[in-house]
Amino acid sequence: MASLLLPSSSSSSSSLWTKPLNVKRSARGYGVRVPVVCRAGASPVVFRGLDADDFRHPLDKQNTSLLSSIPGLNQLGKALLAPVAEQVMLLENIGTSVLVAENQLSDLYQSLAEAAKVLNTETPDLYIRQNPVPNAYTLAISGRKPFIVVHTSVVELLTRKELQAVLAHELGHLKCDHGVWLTYANILASGAYNVPGLGGFIAQTLEEQLYRWVRAAELTCDRAALLVTQDPKVVMSVLMKLAGGCPSLSDKLNVDAFLEQARSYDKAASSPVGWYIRNAQRKQLSHPLPVMRAREIDEWSRSQGYTSLVKQAIQFESGQS
Ligand SMILES: [Zn+2]
Repeated sequence: MASLLLPSSSSSSSSLWTKPLNVKRSARGYGVRVPVVCRAGASPVVFRGLDADDFRHPLDKQNTSLLSSIPGLNQLGKALLAPVAEQVMLLENIGTSVLVAENQLSDLYQSLAEAAKVLNTETPDLYIRQNPVPNAYTLAISGRKPFIVVHTSVVELLTRKELQAVLAHELGHLKCDHGVWLTYANILASGAYNVPGLGGFIAQTLEEQLYRWVRAAELTCDRAALLVTQDPKVVMSVLMKLAGGCPSLSDKLNVDAFLEQARSYDKAASSPVGWYIRNAQRKQLSHPLPVMRAREIDEWSRSQGYTSLVKQAIQFESGQS
């Protein structure tokens, strides 16, 4: 399974956007600049033939290969976690949520289908679940159609375009096949699984590595959100609202000011004490800090990697018409 934010009570989902998954119990001078290629307001260009490695964050690549090099870990996860995941899927999600379809919340269905098309990936199922904690997550279990769950509070908080960014982030987890590692991370986060030996093994040997990987995977999936929205301000606005937004404030928040905040955070953290705090905070969070994510996505939106992907896709579309 894989996700955006945080599994609430139980479990197994993987993760998402807003909240630290585990809470162990828990300047550079730039503002928001218009990227070289910004398709805000237009129909998104479709990335035909897009591969996960075309947008995977370098830290994700690095940490994935570290985890993959551990013999048997991938297979172990699939064998031991599938039954638990299935139970969670059936009882907690499908049974208590609304399935989005062409005849049910059709605008959300179209939004998801469009995002999947842009990312050159299959469209999973989408469920909307009543929950006051803003969160979204994805479950991908072998042999079953993957699905995304979005809490109602996320729908209330975000514009439709921002909501599509959340869906795209979740699609990014599926596109990058993040499921198994995210599931491991969730085992750590929830403590819900009592697989003899496994929990202790993971906790002792892999915890720090897994969390480092999860933070890197989140950066990759924010890039998937940018590929779909094609407007970095939309992605940054989602991060800002998940950090400190609520429906009554959402139209008053300022994305540019949020990015300025990221810059000042960097400055404060440049002292030895700031450095220590920042790294200690990061070490215990499954998701990178929202301001850091905003900064990362701003930088990538102006990078050659992103702009050349968009330009190639636009050229391809022009050649077809
Ligand atoms: Zn995520």
